[in-house]
Amino acid sequence: MATDRATWRNLVREGAALYNDDLCHAAQDKRRLRKERAIIKHVQPKPSTTTFPCPHCTRIIGSRIGLDAHLKTHKDQEGGQSYSTTSDRR
Ligand SMILES: [Zn+2]
Repeated sequence: MATDRATWRNLVREGAALYNDDLCHAAQDKRRLRKERAIIKHVQPKPSTTTFPCPHCTRIIGSRIGLDAHLKTHKDQEGGQSYSTTSDRR
């Protein structure tokens, strides 16, 4: 095979062309999937249905970590160690 230079060159060329086509098609498919996912995300935004009501007051917080931060304000008020000048910080 290696002695027949013309055949070897054609095989290498065809193989490289096939590999390049595969790469292009894979990239196009990947891009199409990514764009479809982006459109789906844009059209149907995930609604945040989870809410965390404060057990001490009527405030509704949208995230767990937000509730933790909010509860610290109550802890400060209960302990009487609040350094805030206002009674209601939020
Ligand atoms: Zn509260």
